[in-house]
Amino acid sequence: MPDGRRFLIRTFGCQMNEHDSERIAGLYEAEGMTATDSLDDADIVVLNTCCIRENADNKFYGHLGHLKSVKAKRPDLQIVVGGCLAQKDRDSIRERVPEVDVVFGTHNVHRAAALLEQSRFDGPIVEVWDEGDGETASSLPARRELPWAAWITIQVGCDNSCAFCIVPAVRGREVSRTPDDIVAEVAAAAVDGVSEVTLLGQNVNSYGRDLTRRRPLFADLLRAVGAVEGVRRVRYTSPHPKDLRPETIAAMAETPAVCDHLHLPLQSGSDRVLAAMHRGYTAERYLDRLAAARAAIPDLAVTTDIIVGFPGETDDDFERTLEVAATAAYDSAYTFIFSPRPGTAAAERVDDFVPADVVAERFERLRVVVERSALARHRSRVGRVEEVVVEGPSRRDAAVTTGRTGQNKLVHFTTEAPIRPGTYAEVLVTGAAPHHLTGDLLAVTAAARHRTRLAITAG
Ligand code: SF4
Repeated sequence: MPDGRRFLIRTFGCQMNEHDSERIAGLYEAEGMTATDSLDDADIVVLNTCCIRENADNKFYGHLGHLKSVKAKRPDLQIVVGGCLAQKDRDSIRERVPEVDVVFGTHNVHRAAALLEQSRFDGPIVEVWDEGDGETASSLPARRELPWAAWITIQVGCDNSCAFCIVPAVRGREVSRTPDDIVAEVAAAAVDGVSEVTLLGQNVNSYGRDLTRRRPLFADLLRAVGAVEGVRRVRYTSPHPKDLRPETIAAMAETPAVCDHLHLPLQSGSDRVLAAMHRGYTAERYLDRLAAARAAIPDLAVTTDIIVGFPGETDDDFERTLEVAATAAYDSAYTFIFSPRPGTAAAERVDDFVPADVVAERFERLRVVVERSALARHRSRVGRVEEVVVEGPSRRDAAVTTGRTGQNKLVHFTTEAPIRPGTYAEVLVTGAAPHHLTGDLLAVTAAARHRTRLAITAG
């Protein structure tokens, strides 16, 4: 019997949360509920939270404040909070906002539908587990936002202890799914029309260490997933530079479906800061590994994460970061201003916090360096034919279609007739900007195989 209620999910933070939201949606749909984008129509609102950055907390409590006022007018509205912040602040969320009906953590996402139902009859519930029962990482029904693309969780948790990061505290120790389980999920998604998969983990390069020490399982996994019929693109995130092995690079180079894109978080170019961050590599070792990857995969696009203003970062440390960023010549970089997360080692170094005006100035200088290399790399694509997967009309201009290359670059191009999202097409690149390419459509190479469920906008 269809349930008839409608749910709205708002997701904060990383791809792991995006994927968890797809699974929550899948569980609710399995109960007969339907998704909505409108708060006015929603009977249930889920906030899937993040606690990596302070902004995410602020945004979350801002949303919760708004929902509280909506619930004052519509008492039947159910408010659900999941994700990392729920894991960390399990008790204080309902203390701050008693209108919240359900709180669940990162280890019991699979309980989302059961807890919602239980709360309708028993009242508010806080259920946060300290570790998983093996089911969280398994294949739950997922309602994919992009029907041709699937997130596949290969591992949850993290065994590292980066000084700025709260993930190990909220996601627990590394737990890997078995290769058979993962490949079976990929094969089922491919039958469903999925042609692009992204393997997800906090530290994918250490995937499988909890299963066996005998082989670098991540390399084997890339080859196995790349061999699944119907899968044209394999991506993964995030790898840790200290665990990037030659076998992984070889598997990337030798498996045609694995995209020529490596996201390799640098965080800092200063060895002193890297040591204080507990990252386990030096700038030189990082650049050596990058050079090896580029030598094996000549057309490799490289992106990164960099934190500006880590406690104690001096002008000299920051100059090292600029130098490494220039040498690495990134295609793009996610640059972050350090924000202290309670419960992390870095948050306690209050006396070493870098003044905001100094950080802002450094952030701007880094942006210029990254944009310079991004533009140069994008200009080198002009005149080439790129295969893109069509994402849909651009958000800014519906006459323009947006596609994404294997290197994960956005390409804007015009078409005479709309092309179905998920279709593969060849585009001649004619222009370059720091954050995208422009081009002309040459030919459609493979039609989308999924049944269209959503109108997709991109750009
Ligand atoms: S590797 Fe470091 S930054 Fe990444 S999740 Fe683990 S502790 Fe956090």
